Amino acid sequence: MSTRVDPDLRREVARFGADDLDKCINCGNCTAVCSLSEGNTVFPRKTIRYLQLGLKEKLLQSPEPWLCYYCGECSDTCPRDANPGETMMALRRWATAQYDRSGHAAKFYTSAKRLWMAIFLRAMIPLVLLALFHAITGFKWIVTDHVELNTFAPVMWVWLAVVIHFIFLGYRVMSGSLTMSRHVLGASSQPFNLPFVVYLSELKTFLLHFFTQKRWRECGEQHHRRWLEHMFFVSGYLIMLLLVVGLLGWFQTDKIYPIYHPQRWLGYYATVALLYGSISMFVGRIRKRDQIHKFSDLTDWLFPGFLFVGALTGILLHIFRYADWPWPTYVMYVIHVMAMVAMLDVEVGIGKWAHMIYRPLAMYLVRLRERSEELALAAGAATPAAN
Ligand code: SF4
Ligand code: SF4
Repeated sequence: MSTRVDPDLRREVARFGADDLDKCINCGNCTAVCSLSEGNTVFPRKTIRYLQLGLKEKLLQSPEPWLCYYCGECSDTCPRDANPGETMMALRRWATAQYDRSGHAAKFYTSAKRLWMAIFLRAMIPLVLLALFHAITGFKWIVTDHVELNTFAPVMWVWLAVVIHFIFLGYRVMSGSLTMSRHVLGASSQPFNLPFVVYLSELKTFLLHFFTQKRWRECGEQHHRRWLEHMFFVSGYLIMLLLVVGLLGWFQTDKIYPIYHPQRWLGYYATVALLYGSISMFVGRIRKRDQIHKFSDLTDWLFPGFLFVGALTGILLHIFRYADWPWPTYVMYVIHVMAMVAMLDVEVGIGKWAHMIYRPLAMYLVRLRERSEELALAAGAATPAAN
């Protein structure tokens, strides 16, 4: 099989943040210190070498960038200060752009202007829709003597918009995941003739890593605290998604629930987790003490920024609604929805969502590869030698 060299690859990936390639002398120290590098998936030296040589196909076929949890051990100990951890991060951004057929990810990662414009345009969508709704209905659905949020923004209509939006976002994630799978599975030396039941049974690998991100813990004890904080944050994020996508009719309400009601404490839990997570990300990126926070792309700042605005406007909206202040409630609701729509649209497919899906997917694909090789070995052992 021929291997094509792409002379522009280094320059292309440099636009996503891999600036220190020339410093790397391929000594292999980074691979030796990486606790996650094992068996057939060794990195980051090999991955960096592919990049240096312009082996684009090889890189696309490698699940390794997604197996790195950016603990920073390799960058801390690199004798040439070549920042291998950041190179792996840049490769994840680049790979995400390769999987995204719309081309948006590449534009957002490489042009701040385009990213801000996209955020602005997406944030305007709920504002324009609500303004149109009230203009068409002659502003009769804005109750101003007390709060009626579900008259201002009828929950079933909002929920329908949320579902349509999530179908669209789900399509983008599925499309990117399929492209990644095609690249990675296509690289297998074994034909992919696994029984369908293996694809299904190995889904447990995907789910395990999706919900626990447990390999992060394997980076060493010093990363356990950050892993725990991350789990707290992710649990809040997933609860908020569940409340908005699955239970909006219950969550967006004009009823006043007692403090012990799950509608309230689930919302409080998710809000605290999101606030804690976003502030901790901000503090880490400002201090730059850990490797993971030393190089921050604009998208790395935007994610905690959106979450912070979302959590803060959510708290204010809640306070204004319980205080029965109609206009502050409605205005805060609009700002809250604008921030969340912009965040989801920009983040899904390029930012944290892509990482949340592609990392466990890489583990799943690696596992399928292993199963395929095991089956091929077993078949070889069972075949009697000729003559
Ligand atoms: S990135 Fe650093 S540690 Fe890794 S191979 Fe290159 S020079 Fe060696
Ligand atoms: S950042 Fe950590 S997990 Fe990633 S390659 Fe370096 S040592 Fe391995």
